[in-house]
Amino acid sequence: MSVTKYDTIIVGAGLVGLSVAYHLKRKNPNSKVLLIEKENDVAQHQSGHNSGVIHSGIYYKPGSLKAKNCIDGYHSIIEFAEEHDIPFDICGKIIVATSEAELPKLNDIYERGIQNGLGDLTRLRSLEEIREYEPHVAGIEAIHVPQTGIIDYPRMATTLLSLFRNEYGGDAVFGEQVVKIKSEKDTVYVETTKHSYTAANLVSCGGLFSDRVANLTEKENDLRIIPFRGEYYKLREEKEYLVRNLIYPVPDPSFPFLGVHFTRMIQGGIEAGPNAVLAFKREGYRFSDFNLKDTQDTFSWPGFWKIAAKYGKTGLGEMYRSLSKAAFTKALQKLMPEVQESDLVPGGAGVRAQACDRNGNLIDDFDILNRRNIIHVRNAPSPAATSSLAIGQYICSQLLGSEAAVSN
Ligand SMILES: Cc1cc2nc3c(=O)[nH]c(=O)nc-3n(C[C@H](O)[C@H](O)[C@H](O)COP(=O)(O)OP(=O)(O)OC[C@H]3O[C@@H](n4cnc5c(N)ncnc54)[C@H](O)[C@@H]3O)c2cc1C
Repeated sequence: MSVTKYDTIIVGAGLVGLSVAYHLKRKNPNSKVLLIEKENDVAQHQSGHNSGVIHSGIYYKPGSLKAKNCIDGYHSIIEFAEEHDIPFDICGKIIVATSEAELPKLNDIYERGIQNGLGDLTRLRSLEEIREYEPHVAGIEAIHVPQTGIIDYPRMATTLLSLFRNEYGGDAVFGEQVVKIKSEKDTVYVETTKHSYTAANLVSCGGLFSDRVANLTEKENDLRIIPFRGEYYKLREEKEYLVRNLIYPVPDPSFPFLGVHFTRMIQGGIEAGPNAVLAFKREGYRFSDFNLKDTQDTFSWPGFWKIAAKYGKTGLGEMYRSLSKAAFTKALQKLMPEVQESDLVPGGAGVRAQACDRNGNLIDDFDILNRRNIIHVRNAPSPAATSSLAIGQYICSQLLGSEAAVSN
């Protein structure tokens, strides 16, 4: 019996892996591409447990991979959603400063937006101006970002899979975890919990396990994933009138996450969150979830203790807000004083895969390690859902050796 040798094997059916698979088959329909996923369906982790926001690119350092891919991905995602009837809405958002101390940072964000090519940003200089957009918000100044939108990411993931498999003839297997990767001459040998496969190239997009998949081929992987759970509340239906679209605080510059905010969801309803709590299980969605190996991996990483020293106070505050609904509500009341504890009901949660180096730097930018026939996506935090089509196109062009859409 002859065994298929694939041109490319992709590990992980989150939005990034799906996008790579889709672009490879679309660009080269005759190529043999296999997607391997350990869960039984697509988007079971970050891609299906996020805020559902199409980010505009306003926050990111000009010239960074995040800035370029977010802006390119933004346009691609809208085109893709229109073509394939994926529900989305470019509803805009406001970023609100609630104290004088936040104004310099708000100004920096505005300047970044301009540098990143965002037109039509509006500075809102008074509470009255802010309330024209969001009548229940408290704040002193704000930026209105008309480009931001919301979308159904799980639906986008199933559409990508269906195009990859049914339209372009790609292969996908589910319920198989990749446990071994070996590269010899021109062949990559892949072992899963069920079968063995071979290919000329491999791309790993393992999300919360991206470091462990990279470790299968890298003797010295200088990055480790530190998982941060983001928990949400939902506004009770009768209180949904408090929020029209998306309301964000000015992010704390000493912490790499955006701060709890209000988000209108494309499927309906308003979410409040997510916080950012150190997780003791990489794919664990409840406070009580614990995995010994995951926790050991966090605590044995020298960089983690440096993060703990740097962000300890903020981290403890996040943990407190996770345990205390009153504290979570208080954080939201900074943006919207009217919101009460009784207006909030528990929502879902997601876990962020945040890469950290040995020196305790939380890696802000996307990290894609290219070893000729093996590419590991080692860090794809937010806005990687927004950027997923651009990242996939970039990796595809790296593999096919053509002009890169986005380059390092
Ligand atoms: C709470 C939260 C809110 C967010 N909000 C937004 C937002 O509003 N907008 C935005 O743009 N981004 C947002 N993000 C970020 C975004 O969701 C992620 O950056 C993006 O989904 C990453 O996609 P991925 O494919 O890399 O990872 P994932 O979606 O996590 O997929 C990785 C896949 O790899 C599989 N896998 C891992 N190891 C193996 C193995 N050994 N063998 C086989 N399969 C394996 C996993 O099962 C998983 O399915 C948010 C993230 C979180 C957690």
